[in-house]
Amino acid sequence: MNTSEEKHAIVTGGSRGIGRAIVTRLLKDGYRVWYLSRTIAEQAEDLASIAEQSQQSVTWIACDIADRTSLEQAMKVAMEQAGWIDLLVNNAGITRDALIMRMKDEAWNHVLQVNLSAAFLTCRALSRHMVQRRQGCIINISSVVGLIGNPGQTNYAASKAGLIGFSKSLARELASRAVRVNVVAPGFIETSMTEALGEPAKTQLQNQIPLGRIGSAYEVADAVAYLASPAASYITGQVLAVDGGMTM
Ligand code: NAP
Repeated sequence: MNTSEEKHAIVTGGSRGIGRAIVTRLLKDGYRVWYLSRTIAEQAEDLASIAEQSQQSVTWIACDIADRTSLEQAMKVAMEQAGWIDLLVNNAGITRDALIMRMKDEAWNHVLQVNLSAAFLTCRALSRHMVQRRQGCIINISSVVGLIGNPGQTNYAASKAGLIGFSKSLARELASRAVRVNVVAPGFIETSMTEALGEPAKTQLQNQIPLGRIGSAYEVADAVAYLASPAASYITGQVLAVDGGMTM
């Protein structure tokens, strides 16, 4: 077992939005971070200086997680560079919305591949390593849509609900080896994923949020940081909604 104080994390989809906020928070919390995405992070130089200030490092590994070979290769590179991994955050996700009658096979398969199958592949790649170390933490980013559904998002909702069932099963498989698996389910968060919605849709959504406002990516990152921390050492198999009360 490694006794070093150094902590290592892999984050998928760290280039922008919630993933970038998670990378930022983990650097501040003393992690060395490897993030996987197709493009380098927005304001990558800012991330590098946060890493430097925190005496940590941040490394981008170019990867299309919809492509199994690309993902397996990226995980291998991250593992070789890091030596060990304490935390895996499956954050990368996409939407390809359409009503069921117009939903193309390709839109169904692509969303399932990125949002669900990629998490299966990263977890499988790291499970043996975490089990052997008798420590490790996995956090999967689902969505309130996986809990309550949303018209036009059958593919997205299936992937996000699937991620919850997957995570609870994995939590039960790995608990006896002290590896924890939890889920964060964000509500309506200000990122490029939601900026495509027009103002009327945003206002209508905002009206359904008891706290009366859209959330920030950093508020999701705070939940991830908590679940990754020793403060959550007795928590596994749980879904933490970060949604301003939308699903209470
Ligand atoms: P975003 O701003 O669109 O960012 C998506 C991230 O995923 C980017 O870093 C993107 O990187 C990466 N990604 C997408 N496809 C990828 C692929 N094929 N290979 C590698 N990386 C890929 O989205 P976000 O709002 O931050 O969402 C992050 C997570 O939170 C998602 O799982 C989303 O479903 C979930 N979520 C978001 C909200 C919300 O309101 N925003 C609500 C609930 C749940 P590249 O484009 O560089 O590859």
